[in-house]
Amino acid sequence: MATAAAQAGRSPDDVRLVAVTKYVDTDVVRDLVAAGCRSLGESRPQALWEKADALADLDVEWHLVGHLQRNKVRRTLPAVQLTHSVDSTRLLQEMDREAVNLPRPANVLLEVNISGDAEKHGFAPANVREVVERAGKYPHVQVCGLMTMAHREGGAEVARRDFAALRRLRDELVDRAPPNVRLDELSMGMSNDYPQAILEGATLIRVGRALYEGVPD
Ligand SMILES: *Cc1c(COP(=O)(O)O)cnc(C)c1O
Repeated sequence: MATAAAQAGRSPDDVRLVAVTKYVDTDVVRDLVAAGCRSLGESRPQALWEKADALADLDVEWHLVGHLQRNKVRRTLPAVQLTHSVDSTRLLQEMDREAVNLPRPANVLLEVNISGDAEKHGFAPANVREVVERAGKYPHVQVCGLMTMAHREGGAEVARRDFAALRRLRDELVDRAPPNVRLDELSMGMSNDYPQAILEGATLIRVGRALYEGVPD
């Protein structure tokens, strides 16, 4: 991360690692936290609830990085610092309704299907402007930025192009955003492509497998 940040002329402090824990049990998560990871991510709400409960003694923040069903919003919101994966306006509306009961707004990122893969979640890039404008109607939701996953195939160069496209989309939208929409966070980059993401402006990278090389199953 530091090498990529230096190459991009950015401070390493401007990029945060979200350690994705979906592959490991809580013993390994404790090792990660002891090694300095404070931001932890899960892709499935149920797994996040269970790990957050089991590790409630630790000073960490949880990030939901995978799809959130509306019927799981109520239980998920109090447990998470940031939901990276808002992919419908119906979900935004449900989060707004539930966040009324919380001491703070629900912090979210809008997931964008920048690569256009049919099996991916996320808003089509052409629809994000309208979603940003509509988010102004949901005052209990704080939009903090955008999230994407690069195209599955194509390697580092294609990933970099996808990440650059997300950053440009953000730059186009930022001046028209309503007051509860900030777009300064860009969540992009996983084990295979986080250096490219940092080069293109990622502020959050979501890394799983690369953290566990050599850890026995
Ligand atoms: C699993 C997952 C990651 C981490 O992927 P790795 O390839 O293991 O680094 C990142 N983001 C999302 C949405 C995931 O589901």
